[in-house]
Amino acid sequence: MKHNRNTYLKHKCRCELCVADAAEYKRRRRIAMGGDTDVRLPGAPLLAFVRKMSDERIQHAVVKSWLEKGVSPYTIDKWCTRFGAHPAEVYGIDFYRGCEVGA
Ligand SMILES: [Zn+2]
Repeated sequence: MKHNRNTYLKHKCRCELCVADAAEYKRRRRIAMGGDTDVRLPGAPLLAFVRKMSDERIQHAVVKSWLEKGVSPYTIDKWCTRFGAHPAEVYGIDFYRGCEVGA
């Protein structure tokens, strides 16, 4: 039997090879979706945007994380899409600069 993500999913094999291949697939998929966890943009503009667009209460822990650690382009995109805006409307050219880092 070949050990890779297939065996991880189909046969629930959790050997080193299967786990590594499954993790690598996840990582690549995340990057493809623009959600590379290594890329962070400042959280303040997103926070201001969400607060302007909605009365929805954002969890304190989330606010803290956005401000302290920044936000991924994927997170920005998710919130902007929700309010029918494009990330560039909130971040301007900086959004693309942020994305390039992870490309
Ligand atoms: Zn295996």
